[in-house]
Amino acid sequence: MFKLRRRNDTAPTLAAEPPTALSLDAVTRVHSTGTTALHDVTLRVPPGRFLAVMGRSGSGKSTLLQCAAGLDSVTSGTVRIGGTDLAALGERALTRLRRDRVGFVFQSLNLVPSLSVLENAALPLLLAGLPDDGRALSALEAVGLADRADDPPARLSGGQCQRAAVARALVTRPAVVFADEPTAALDPDNAQTVLGLLRAAADRSGQAVVLVTHDPLAAEYADEVVFLDGGRIAGHSGMPRAGEIRQILSTLGATR
Ligand code: ADP
Ligand code: MG
Repeated sequence: MFKLRRRNDTAPTLAAEPPTALSLDAVTRVHSTGTTALHDVTLRVPPGRFLAVMGRSGSGKSTLLQCAAGLDSVTSGTVRIGGTDLAALGERALTRLRRDRVGFVFQSLNLVPSLSVLENAALPLLLAGLPDDGRALSALEAVGLADRADDPPARLSGGQCQRAAVARALVTRPAVVFADEPTAALDPDNAQTVLGLLRAAADRSGQAVVLVTHDPLAAEYADEVVFLDGGRIAGHSGMPRAGEIRQILSTLGATR
């Protein structure tokens, strides 16, 4: 009888799914103060998917992002990026994974004031030891800031700084992009530009995007919304519309 020859005795991998861009399984985070900021959170973000995370202040949104990006460690449960369990990595390997596969737009932008806008955008390439083969300037072009490349951040408006921070987060084409309230301080035009850039990262480059926002109109850019309440996933909406989001948020408020 014909026998399939295998390299080893493990089960055939024909039916195995490719690893998803980001997964959290039963993640709990208890801070040193005793606060349980995340409780039993499970979610998946495949490549090219844009997820919005919403919930009242203190509901655990930032903690979720920090844990998912490997900037904070979980108390129990598992976080995987591209199938890699973050807890299995040493500090150096974790730093490398963050550098190569994760982009992060912080609420406080963290632009380096002594560097030009172009140098700020190129910083992740420099840190990764990659050549800047015009990518930083392309990233600035994509956010409409090519003409400000040589300026220091101090000469830019708030909206322009936020766009520069987005260019920097996207410059290495990371597999997962996290953004914590990136439009909170922006006027509607700049907010739309930033959200459009995140949407394009998902649609054109197949990047997984996770956005924390208070704004139902911002969440409309996402493919789905998860709602946090007291560190737990309290609800979920696919193809979100602002009206429905407002209604769910008001329900969460009532459970306080
Ligand atoms: P959100 O981003 O939704 O406002 P956070 O994730 O910042 O919520 O906070 C969730 C809960 O965890 C809050 O009760 C907050 O006070 C607490 N928390 C957040 N970070 C820390 C920390 N570093 N140490 C202790 N408690 C924290
Ligand atoms: Mg927060």
